[in-house]
Amino acid sequence: MRRVLILIVAISIITACASTADVTATQPSIPTDIPPASTSTPETDPVLPEPTKSVAISTDPALKVDFFTENGITLPVPTCSASTVAQTEGPYYTPNSPERNSLLEEGMPGTRLFVVGYVLDQNCQPLSNAWIDFWQADANGEYDNVGYTLRGHQFTDEQGRYYLQTVLPGEYPGRTQHIHVKVQPIGGSLITSQLYFPNSPGNANDGIFDPTLIVQMEERPAYILAYFNFVMQ
Ligand code: FE
Repeated sequence: MRRVLILIVAISIITACASTADVTATQPSIPTDIPPASTSTPETDPVLPEPTKSVAISTDPALKVDFFTENGITLPVPTCSASTVAQTEGPYYTPNSPERNSLLEEGMPGTRLFVVGYVLDQNCQPLSNAWIDFWQADANGEYDNVGYTLRGHQFTDEQGRYYLQTVLPGEYPGRTQHIHVKVQPIGGSLITSQLYFPNSPGNANDGIFDPTLIVQMEERPAYILAYFNFVMQ
């Protein structure tokens, strides 16, 4: 029965086509080798094998949870009046610090401090992938000169931003509160400097304290947020 229906449909189509086509064209032969339709199983869409799913593990840093978004931090549009002043490295630098944004460790005493900002060129344009190495004293004013406690380097992100999670450094004899830092953009010269805090009692008595290196502080419930932009020479 099905075969008869298919033949009728085929003839109808051919007849319709022939009526509008060139009348001199040879009428095509009707195929006679149409296989009989199966009557035992209903017509269903064939079940295709599941395509192999490859789970891509992205290494794109843009897809990581963004520290700034997560903490509701918006960096102010930078202004660049002068290059960041260089200062002495001091006696406590240890090279080859671990790469990390957080220097915080379990049980570390001190006031939590997040330092954030840009590394910028002379035209106040952000520099991505700039190397930044931080080191500092702990809340009691003591350095770890054996290991890498409160030492770490990082690279600015694609927007030229850095962030450091640490504690407020303590004072030590002769020095006000400060964080040491080295910054070097790709293909640029390295500067060594230090960051200071507003209202630190020791600022007035520190011989190398420089007010242009004071961070801009914002009190947050769980930490102090400090802004500082590095402008490279
Ligand atoms: Fe120091």
